[in-house]
Amino acid sequence: MVKFAQYLAHGEVAYGVVENNVVYQITTTPFEEYEVTDHTHPLDHVELLSPIYPNKVLAIALNYVSHLGKTGAAPRAQPEKPEPFWKSSGAVIGPDEEIIIPRDAGRVEAEGELVIVIGREGKHIPKADALDYVLGYTCGIDVSARVWQKGDVQWWRAKGSDTFAPLGPFITTDLDPSKLHLITRVNGEVKQEAPTSDLIFDVPTIVSFISEVVTLEAGDVIYTGTPGIPPVIEPGDTVEVEVTEIGVLRNSVVSDE
Ligand code: MG
Repeated sequence: MVKFAQYLAHGEVAYGVVENNVVYQITTTPFEEYEVTDHTHPLDHVELLSPIYPNKVLAIALNYVSHLGKTGAAPRAQPEKPEPFWKSSGAVIGPDEEIIIPRDAGRVEAEGELVIVIGREGKHIPKADALDYVLGYTCGIDVSARVWQKGDVQWWRAKGSDTFAPLGPFITTDLDPSKLHLITRVNGEVKQEAPTSDLIFDVPTIVSFISEVVTLEAGDVIYTGTPGIPPVIEPGDTVEVEVTEIGVLRNSVVSDE
């Protein structure tokens, strides 16, 4: 198991491997051959960035039974196939960055999710081989503006407004994605909690299904869906998403003034 961070230190962006709250800079990126250097920083001395700024951000709707019919913006029936949608890559932000609630957005919710990080290019990936194409996993918040999600033809702003795709803090490799635990908190209070074994469509099924029509590339990410009832967020709130062996992604919420 390796934990990768992307960070800013002394004005330079780098990738590193995190062990015992120390980050060891690596020579390239997690998506290439790399060597771990002896150039280190205490974790709390660097500014963590999103562990990846992806070309493609996909997300799966309706992927926990506990979530079906809970948003007022989605049908209640359990889907018979994965239901991916696009989020904007421009919406990605890192740990501790602010989620900006757009003017006139109305009700906005924070969906805590396990996020797949693709490790290498593939198309028509068989389900049995799918995990070979996954580098690791991170935490994500699928920020969702419900009025727009329900009323617009497309989810371009409901799911793709600036800052609506927080990711981080780390990419952790070699996890069993069916044996993780997801928790979402707002201002310290637990709002969502589920084992990832509850996913209706598991990680190999999702990767295989998407790759039938979309070439997945190193660094692309797939949000896997959210359980239960996602919390409403408002300016002044702090949202945390925690996943086993990955860590806590924390973002504060502000209004677009
Ligand atoms: Mg979602």
